[in-house]
Amino acid sequence: SACWHGSRTRLFSTTKISMTIMPAWVIDKYGSNDVLRFTRNASFPVIIYPNEVIVRVHSAGLNPLDVSMRGGYGAATMSMKRDPLNIKQSGSEFPLILGREASGVIMECGLDVKHFRERDEVWAAIPPWKQGSLAEFVVLSANEVSHKPKSLSHVEAAAIPYVATTAWSALVNTGGLSKDNCAKKRILILGGSGGVGTFSIQMLKAWGAHVTVTCSQNAERFVRGLGADHVVDYTAGAVEEPLRALEKFDLILDNVGGDTELWALNLLKPWCGAKFVTLVTPFLQNTDRMGIADGMMKTAATVATKALKHLVKGVHYRWGFFAPSGPALDEVREMVDAGQVRAVVEETFSFSQVPQAFEKMEKGHARGKTVVQIS
Ligand code: NDP
Repeated sequence: SACWHGSRTRLFSTTKISMTIMPAWVIDKYGSNDVLRFTRNASFPVIIYPNEVIVRVHSAGLNPLDVSMRGGYGAATMSMKRDPLNIKQSGSEFPLILGREASGVIMECGLDVKHFRERDEVWAAIPPWKQGSLAEFVVLSANEVSHKPKSLSHVEAAAIPYVATTAWSALVNTGGLSKDNCAKKRILILGGSGGVGTFSIQMLKAWGAHVTVTCSQNAERFVRGLGADHVVDYTAGAVEEPLRALEKFDLILDNVGGDTELWALNLLKPWCGAKFVTLVTPFLQNTDRMGIADGMMKTAATVATKALKHLVKGVHYRWGFFAPSGPALDEVREMVDAGQVRAVVEETFSFSQVPQAFEKMEKGHARGKTVVQIS
């Protein structure tokens, strides 16, 4: 197989990396933290399409999705993305490498890659059906990659891409916000102290919005430090009551889920295009539980029913999803290098401490991001 790897690489890329194995943290089955296994013999990534690049990972950012995926969350949908014709036998995704954020250096470019060269410093958010960044190297499409902000270290840069592209997808693509239309808008972020919240607060403040945030009382100073204008403590009792006393909102970003959608849509300004965008959706659970076809049907029916139910009250109900995007990261880079957005790294772990990093993530109560230093 070393030969095969080599020839595939030569066909589609300008240079040939002769390595065939690399160090990585992998899982061989889904489960709790003890399925994480360090190996020096993970398959070296291969350029299969001419628009791909191989990145040497310096730092990898972790997200709650990594903990969920370790346990098998989303496995049905990810298998379909990896193997749409369903040719491979089940379990062919293993050994699976987790880690959805990378900051590193381009090692090799496919023949069609125009915007990157070897040795460019880059950051990227990695689609969940691809091998992740808890490894020395990762292969990505060039359109998922972006030049890293010069003002950030690799550790800092690894804390941003997944949460930033998720926030971008939810707030810009789904929510319709942009740097030019936020000035008079009132935005509510449910769950402001974690990865997505800490990034979203900063981006919306940079765009001139008024930002209200819910979080635990002990995170109030922290989110105010990131620019939040108004903070409501959700641990002090029914959070909807203090929120109801406030002027209504133009957009709500929900990072919390659960019962929020029973009351939060009443906090929106009716009949003026206001939107509730939730990142907590049952899409992947549905496909895991019912299979792809039934799960997707159920999902479509659920979201359509909910959207219609709220539309008659004059507000929009939407689901937001992570979407990998180099171009979105290019815009985020400008904001970072202009000093408008900073990385919020709560804790850094070494490559040998990946299980401890997962344990930390599993405890919840994030105040920003967890990052693993690979090299
Ligand atoms: P984190 O774990 O980084 O942050 C969650 C934060 O919410 C913590 O700071 C937690 O702190 C706080 N929190 C918990 N409960 C509440 C509550 N009831 N009200 C207000 N704050 C609360 O998660 P992320 O920011 O990375 O992600 C947020 C959510 O979005 C997750 O559910 C994630 O799965 C989802 N997501 C979905 C994506 C998609 O594609 N649909 C993509 C990315 C994320 P404390 O408990 O101390 O209050």
